[in-house]
Amino acid sequence: MARLTHQDWLERAARLRPVTVHHIDGADHPGSGETFPVIAPRDGTVLAQAPRAGQEEVDVAVAAARRAFDTGPWPRLAPAERGRALLRFADTIEAHREELALTIALEMGKPITEAYDIELRAVAATFRWYGEMADKLIDEVPQTPADALALVTREPVGVVAAVVPWNFPLTMAAWKVAPALAAGCTVVLKPAEQSPLSALRLGRLATEAGLPPGAFNVVAGEGPAAGRALGLHPDVDVLAFTGSTAVGRHFLRYAADSNLKRVWLELGGKSPHIVLPDADLSAAAASAAWGIFFNQGEMCTAPSRLLVHTSIADELVAAVVERARALRIGDPLDPDTTMGALVGAAHLARVEDHIARAHAAGARLRTGGARLDRPGHFLEPTVFDRVTPDMPLAREEVFGPVLAVLTFDTEDEAVQLANATEYGLAAGVWTTDLSAAHRISRAVRAGTVWVNCYEEGGLNVPFGGVKQSGHGRDKSLHALDKYTDLKTTWIRL
Ligand code: NAD
Repeated sequence: MARLTHQDWLERAARLRPVTVHHIDGADHPGSGETFPVIAPRDGTVLAQAPRAGQEEVDVAVAAARRAFDTGPWPRLAPAERGRALLRFADTIEAHREELALTIALEMGKPITEAYDIELRAVAATFRWYGEMADKLIDEVPQTPADALALVTREPVGVVAAVVPWNFPLTMAAWKVAPALAAGCTVVLKPAEQSPLSALRLGRLATEAGLPPGAFNVVAGEGPAAGRALGLHPDVDVLAFTGSTAVGRHFLRYAADSNLKRVWLELGGKSPHIVLPDADLSAAAASAAWGIFFNQGEMCTAPSRLLVHTSIADELVAAVVERARALRIGDPLDPDTTMGALVGAAHLARVEDHIARAHAAGARLRTGGARLDRPGHFLEPTVFDRVTPDMPLAREEVFGPVLAVLTFDTEDEAVQLANATEYGLAAGVWTTDLSAAHRISRAVRAGTVWVNCYEEGGLNVPFGGVKQSGHGRDKSLHALDKYTDLKTTWIRL
């Protein structure tokens, strides 16, 4: 397909009619009529009025998922059949790639090229990957005395509620929904209030692709209402959450206050990017800049702390600053845009507050730091050096395009700095010394360590955090552990 131009995308945006109903039990569900506005970060206009689920809609959606699990076909299908349904779902997503990518760029402000080339590819690939492996799981027959037979079988846990953030609205959803469905669970998805439109469309597409009623339900609504109702619901067996560490704490409380449902948490980060003096500096600078500015810095894994050896700090930071200045900030619907708009006015104000506090703490601004004088929520890519470990910018997640540069003199100091946060999601190490790479990747407490690269990998490797970045893993076969229980059957022969 010829690449669409800015004008093509603008015309498509003008024609887009977002889905503004919940999707429950295989059908549109208008809800109570209460709504909330979805604001386009590119210009601050109202894109649509999304349906606002409260307790009542959440009850209806959970009841549909419960029925579909207890008596419906989905968990009872032969695994290969479930797999084929997920492959059809992946095909349907691919067939609607343009519309879904456009919806995401409009609702959360990322560049259309990234929504289309990166996010939508990942979403279809995730449903395909779990569809393909649905019938390839092998259970266990442990060794037993001669007069007994033991079976250890994986069983679907039941009704899964997935509550997800706005930064990768459909990828974060797919990482939970696809393995849960592959395992034979039924699902209620609640997208973030900033980005409900792509998820509501995804719900309809699941039914169009032939998933049975109730297998996959989507309700839009606000966190403290719809999200809380799911967290407290007695008929939800597992709550899979991606979002901030603060809200993760709420979900643990909801579980304790209700049915002790299992809660899986994928939370925030303040990831270190360590550069040793022997590294390929040009590649390290490119990776550091790309890592922190990709997706407007609204990345849980963003390498927001650049830890650099004192001897190469000037050279490396100058190269990162040059790359920051070369970014094209602009309309997310322009295919030439490399940095779009931050998700909303409140979020932009929070990021600006981080910048103000970095100034006040004595960090040195090397580039950026200001919002753009135009409609929408645009911020310059920002780099601070002379950041010290006690400053808020060295410890707090910004979730925006703001890089903190800290320096070290020894490998031990680098590791100590890397571990000096409450988070443990990801880390990067740049060195040509294989032993140093191994030593550091063992010593840094993180769910993923990238060596001489950043943000790479495939669906076959697990993703998740340690410490207050969460627990449990998305992606790979390990994700199935969250959505299956082990049953032991011991048979006396
Ligand atoms: P958030 O925690 O504010 O919201 C996430 C979801 O929780 C949304 O659906 C929201 O409606 C819901 N929610 C909010 N308050 C709630 C409440 N009181 N009760 C129940 N539900 C509630 O996060 P966000 O702003 O959407 O996303 C940014 C955060 O997500 C960052 O901290 C980022 O690091 C994290 N994140 C983590 C990962 C990961 O895989 N570890 C991936 C992406 C984003």
